[in-house]
Amino acid sequence: MYDYIIVGAGAAGCVLANRLSARSKTSVLLLEAGEDGEKRDVSVPLAWSTLQGSELDWQFDSDAQMGLNGRVVPQPRGKGLGGSSLINAMMFVMGHPADFDRWAALGNPGWDFASMRPHYETVREMMRPALVSHQVAVEKAFLEAAANAGYPMQDRFEEGKQEGFGRYLANIRKGKRYSAAEAYLKPAIYRSNLTIRTGVHVMNLLFKDDRIAGVRYFKDDEVREVKVNKEIILCAGACQSPQILLLSGLGPTEHLRRFGVPVRRHLPGVGENLQDHPLVLLPYRSKNVDTLIASRDLKKMLPFFFGRGPLTTNATAVGGFLRSGEGLTAPDLQFVFVPGLRPEWPGEGFGVAVELLTPDSRGRVMLKSTDALDPPRISPCYLEAPSDVERLLRGVKIAHQLTQVEPLSRHTVEPIVEIQDDFDDDAWVTLIRQLAETGYHPVGTCKMGPADDLQAVVDGQCRVHGLERVRVVDASIMPTIPRGNTHVPTMMIAERVAKMVLEDEG
Ligand SMILES: Cc1cc2nc3c(=O)[nH]c(=O)nc-3n(C[C@H](O)[C@H](O)[C@H](O)COP(=O)(O)OP(=O)(O)OC[C@H]3O[C@@H](n4cnc5c(N)ncnc54)[C@H](O)[C@@H]3O)c2cc1C
Repeated sequence: MYDYIIVGAGAAGCVLANRLSARSKTSVLLLEAGEDGEKRDVSVPLAWSTLQGSELDWQFDSDAQMGLNGRVVPQPRGKGLGGSSLINAMMFVMGHPADFDRWAALGNPGWDFASMRPHYETVREMMRPALVSHQVAVEKAFLEAAANAGYPMQDRFEEGKQEGFGRYLANIRKGKRYSAAEAYLKPAIYRSNLTIRTGVHVMNLLFKDDRIAGVRYFKDDEVREVKVNKEIILCAGACQSPQILLLSGLGPTEHLRRFGVPVRRHLPGVGENLQDHPLVLLPYRSKNVDTLIASRDLKKMLPFFFGRGPLTTNATAVGGFLRSGEGLTAPDLQFVFVPGLRPEWPGEGFGVAVELLTPDSRGRVMLKSTDALDPPRISPCYLEAPSDVERLLRGVKIAHQLTQVEPLSRHTVEPIVEIQDDFDDDAWVTLIRQLAETGYHPVGTCKMGPADDLQAVVDGQCRVHGLERVRVVDASIMPTIPRGNTHVPTMMIAERVAKMVLEDEG
């Protein structure tokens, strides 16, 4: 019997495991379906995208997306100690202050930016992000083009200063990935009151009468159970926390009945409100400039062992944030410059990725079956809202224009995908629907909100509405998606709830 059982050792789970086990009298069990991430080398920043499809990735797929011509979109999710922070692109972005103020305005007092700022400071202190030290010539050309185009420039994107073009901070230390597990779990790993079990797939919550009693899990071909003394904290991420709730009979009655799951509590919002940033990457052939392809020479790789050189960049080190139109409170478009090409496009080149930060489309996560080992059904509904298409269209045009501005224009040979000089909006939209993919940021499927919001799954302390002894604390509780990457906001949420739990304990 443990005081707290944390399900999922991802970005949020690592923070909570550290903070709750800091009290030596509190016993904490951390259950993770994947293995210890250290068994595979995740440390090389440049290789992050090659981890997709590996044993560290759940390798989920979306269902056919109507807004993307019926395409199925891969949905990578990290598996192992560190969760998605093991395989992510390491970009350290807080989101805009307005994102947190919006959460508070939606009926969640205490989640405004002024209140969340201390948690940002703590996360920053723990993760110690830095600018990527290895800069490639084509990245400099991109930033100069942005300046020449008249956009505001920033030295670096720090809290609140998220407008214009500049350099991103990254979770890269001494040239290597610094995951949530490195920062939060490693220092706690030898505490005698923290038990970490890997290879444990949690299936559902256990009840005794109407009270949460523990979890049922699958390990080594056997179904087992473990009891809890105080609370279960679900940190399985935006795709799997709702799946565990649904398999426990907590969700929309109709959906549960369809799968023959006995309904414990009708919670219509479980799995709903899925939001992700749709991303369009425009690839170009380049000439006469250093790109990462140009540095694929073995000799240039060797400095990695001393924390330097091309392998130490995440290849997403520069970019920007802009508003798609007038009258917006904050930027709704993000640009990420990629100083090389994916393997499917051999040769020299670069890419400009555009993400829509405040999509109006809402999707859902549902059950595919009642087998807990089956993936959930993920339906992000990308670009189903016409307003999303309109704004992404503006972003894609800006990205393409930037490749035609000095000095980047000197190095731009041609787009690799079909883009014509006389493209009208319809032609651009056709291209966008062909190219759009995930920005890797699913959130919102167990959203936080007051009890009178019927779609809210958890309250302002992340406790599941109407139940005792169970919280959800991960990216799924975000009522709306932040204007930026989601790793830091997820850790901020976990820091905040850890404090609440410890305060409740007295
Ligand atoms: C390829 C990729 C690139 C990304 N790039 C960036 C980036 O550069 N910057 C950024 O800010 N964000 C990035 N993100 C997003 C960021 O990593 C996530 O938003 C963040 O990790 C979410 O944290 P979480 O705790 O909600 O979930 P996760 O970190 O995904 O953790 C969930 C954990 O729960 C475990 N789990 C799931 N189900 C079960 C179960 N049934 N039983 C036991 N364990 C279970 C999983 O194995 C996993 O370890 C990226 C994500 C991906 C996938």
